[in-house]
Formats: sequence, structure tokens, C-alpha cells
Amino acid sequence: MTAAVSSLSEARTVPLRECGSCTLCCKVYNVVELGKAAGKWCSHCKPGRGCTIHDNLPDECAAFNCLWKTMPSMSMQWKPDQSKMVLTLHPGTNNIHVVVDPGLPSAWTREPYHGQLRGLSKANMAKGHLVVVLVNEQGTLILPDQDVPLGILKPEQAVSVTLEAGPNGGVYDVKIFNRRTTADGQTLELAAASRHPVRSAA
Ligand code: SF4
Ligand code: SF4
Repeated sequence: MTAAVSSLSEARTVPLRECGSCTLCCKVYNVVELGKAAGKWCSHCKPGRGCTIHDNLPDECAAFNCLWKTMPSMSMQWKPDQSKMVLTLHPGTNNIHVVVDPGLPSAWTREPYHGQLRGLSKANMAKGHLVVVLVNEQGTLILPDQDVPLGILKPEQAVSVTLEAGPNGGVYDVKIFNRRTTADGQTLELAAASRHPVRSAA
């Protein structure tokens, strides 16, 4: 699973990719319309069986498809009820969010998943899609050759990476910004920054 992702507007479900027994998105995400918190099962979900109100779904549920359903290169082992991770393109940043089942917070560190997340980073970073793992609000940025802990990452924060030339080779310049909405639009305020030398294995 090293392919580049399509933009949200191109996303269509892959034929025969059905949710089936998977209900993981009903656990890991919040649902504003229902006041449902992230990381806990929705009260309308029968885990492993499905939604009990699918004729009357909140709009955010009706519109949702994870990347496993829309990205042909994601194999069956990435089906969220097997991988314990739900991948999406974040609509605000176009980053690839890997939202981990809090019941198995180490899921993203297992192989073959971790190696494939590095491959996904390598294939998509130049296109502006960063790969960000979230276990609850703990974020980790997956770079092609290393993982960078980001600490608590709030939904209103944005991550950027610039690859710069350093005296001993390339350096990733990682920044976290707070996004603020003002009368003039949106502003970005720097919240944290760190630099990480590119490793030779990249
Ligand atoms: S995580 Fe994906 S496969 Fe699983 S129920 Fe949600 S949309 Fe379907
Ligand atoms: S309303 Fe249904 S689809 Fe939406 S989170 Fe709850 S169980 Fe899942």
C-alpha cells in the first residue's frame, strides 16, 4: 500500500468494498449531530453488525467512507476491523489521518502496517498529503524514514513539513500551527517547531 491517494473530489467506493462486519468508524470518530464523543461506541451501533438507525442516519455518517473503501491499493488487511485503524483524507488539510482504535493503541506500529504507512508517506508527501497517526488526540507524524511524536494534536491545529537543505544533508522542518478564525478570515499561529535530519535509510 504505497500508492498516492486521490483527492477527496475523486473519491468513489471501490466495487465490492462493503463495510460488512466493520463498524470501527462508529467508535473512533465523534458525531457532532449526536453529541457522540470520539473513541467510544455510538449508542446506535451494534459492534460488528452495524448501525441500528441506518434509515435515519446523521448527515456526517451518511457521507462517510474511509480510504479502505475508496482506495483500490488498500488490501483486505487494511480493512479497519482487521487493521484496527481508520484512514481518511482530512477535509480541512488533505492530510491522511490514521485514526487508531483506542482499544489497540499500538496497532499502527505493527508490521506490515508500519512499513506501509512509511511507504504511504513517501508516495504522498510531495503532493502535500502528510500521514498523521492519531491515538485519541496523541499525534505522530509518519515521515518516509522516521516517526515524529507531535504530542496532543487538536482538531483546530495544522501540521506542515518542509524539506530543507542542511550542512550534513536534508532536514525535515516540522511545524504545528493553531488555526484561528477572525473577522478577516483564518490565521495561523505557530505553536511548536522541530527539525529532524533525513536518515540515510529514507
Ligand atoms: S471504517 Fe470504513 S469499512 Fe469500517 S464501517 Fe466505517 S466506512 Fe465501513
Ligand atoms: S449513527 Fe449509526 S452510522 Fe452513525 S456513528 Fe452511530 S452507529 Fe455509526
